[in-house]
Amino acid sequence: MINDLGLGVPRPAPKLPPAVRRTDYGHRRRPDLACPHDLYRLTCDDYEAMRDRARDCCEICGLHGHDTPRGALVVDHFEGGGARFVRGLLCDRCNSLMQRHDGTAPWGPKSLHRSGEARAYHLNAFSNPTDEQRARADAEITRRRKRLQDRYVVSSQPVEGGAL
Ligand SMILES: [Zn+2]
Ligand SMILES: [Zn+2]
Repeated sequence: MINDLGLGVPRPAPKLPPAVRRTDYGHRRRPDLACPHDLYRLTCDDYEAMRDRARDCCEICGLHGHDTPRGALVVDHFEGGGARFVRGLLCDRCNSLMQRHDGTAPWGPKSLHRSGEARAYHLNAFSNPTDEQRARADAEITRRRKRLQDRYVVSSQPVEGGAL
């Protein structure tokens, strides 16, 4: 019999991992408008790849872009201390959380417990910064936090933006 060794039996196609598929989010460059990512020197393809990575959801809390007040996620980047890199896509609330992480606004009772999430997201930056860029960013963040702390201790005045 042909089937003795199982050679004649049609086998199911081997299961391959699904192809890396780019989702079409319908994003197109319009000749009359700047793209939301131009400011960050990302191409439309980069932007679409970011949305793929994020599955079009906030990369910290998972809120879908459509469910944000503005109907879309914002491109988040770090800039300071000679470092500049794109981190990912966020909802407005998590964008403001990253201001706490970055030392441009003080942590408050509603944000402090989320500092770990903020840090993990920062370390997973989309644009894959070099070690030097990362080190510069961290040095700048440390400087800013220190400054923020000093301001609080000296004046006890609420800092612009307020505690979140
Ligand atoms: Zn575009
Ligand atoms: Zn979020």
